Amino acid sequence: MAKTSVIEISKSAVISNINFIKKQLGNDTKLTSVVKANAYGHGIKTYIPLVELAGVDHFSVFSADEAFEVYNVKRPETDIMVMGWMDDDDQLAWAIENGIEFFVFETMKIRRIVELAPKIGKPALIHLEVETGMNRTGLNQKSLQAVVKIIRKNPSLFVLKGLCTHLAGAESIANHVRVQKQLARYKKICKWMTYQGLVPAKRHVASSAAAMTYPASRYDMVRVGILQYGFWPSAETFIQYISKKEEKQDPLRRVIRWKTRIMSIKKVKQGEFVSYGTSYIAHEDKVIAVVPVGYSHGYSRSLSNQGRVLINGQRVVVIGLVNMNMLIADITKIPDVKVGDEVVLIGRQGDSTITVASFGEFSDQLNYELLTRLPLNIPRVVVN
Ligand SMILES: *Cc1c(COP(=O)(O)O)cnc(C)c1O
Repeated sequence: MAKTSVIEISKSAVISNINFIKKQLGNDTKLTSVVKANAYGHGIKTYIPLVELAGVDHFSVFSADEAFEVYNVKRPETDIMVMGWMDDDDQLAWAIENGIEFFVFETMKIRRIVELAPKIGKPALIHLEVETGMNRTGLNQKSLQAVVKIIRKNPSLFVLKGLCTHLAGAESIANHVRVQKQLARYKKICKWMTYQGLVPAKRHVASSAAAMTYPASRYDMVRVGILQYGFWPSAETFIQYISKKEEKQDPLRRVIRWKTRIMSIKKVKQGEFVSYGTSYIAHEDKVIAVVPVGYSHGYSRSLSNQGRVLINGQRVVVIGLVNMNMLIADITKIPDVKVGDEVVLIGRQGDSTITVASFGEFSDQLNYELLTRLPLNIPRVVVN
């Protein structure tokens, strides 16, 4: 059954973005495509095959259940890496059995592998995540020593796929000192590992922001999420990139376009309130369009009286409160609008574009949050 809105995923934009990122990285650094949170709202099923078409053969997710979703749609030769949660029983066994790579940031996990891997008859493909200053997951020095000891004792049970860490805020120059400190600590740990005789297949540190801003952080692999979807991790990252270029155009293309249709049109007399409550009063006679998308569909209520949508290629304002299933747009100034006409909530229509960022200047993280909150049940369809 058709839903009230559709999310279009642009194949040519995906390929263009991946090509751009690969060009930045050169030949020595591998790209893992981060597709946690339903590929940042783009839809795992829809997105994975497109990225594979662009030549990517490594995906990263947060949890084992996400890995399972990717596993079901990926090519056989494509690799998957779990960067966060998996339980110590069924999921861990499944990962070992199926050659899923995963982060280890707890000594308990290593002990569990020593018990499980011999039964399964396959080694665990692990990435040791080390603490360098983010203070989230990551093995501290003592735990790392304990883990290394166990690995050296049981070499046949482990393949050391990686040694990695995560930076706390490379998207802002304000964190520069902290990031530099983390990079220095990481370098030291790499050296220490070499003395231990353990050489990880891949050293990796950078997400989108660091990959663009700190070339020294690229090492053997980068874990890129937001960039591949056509968004910069922050305005700062974009400005830093563009300020060094002659061509001032954004090299990235947005992949997503979210659209729906007008469900009703009517006139409202001057002095009448629109939608629940009294947050909007018509200061002149108005024509309004009712649109079947509300906060339950991922269109935030904080966009009440603020949001913009595109109708007939023109930008119009959302008036009144955004409801659970509907919003109302002011189309007084737009001629020839009919019920059933296309409404664009994110993306391009004619010569106008609604960017995700323009949803509000509330926070740099808004891109991430808005995208990943787009409900699973809105259909994702591939367009060129
Ligand atoms: C989400 C995530 C990334 C990707 O971050 P982007 O800013 O979207 O590129 C990389 N590494 C880890 C550990 C992550 O959790």
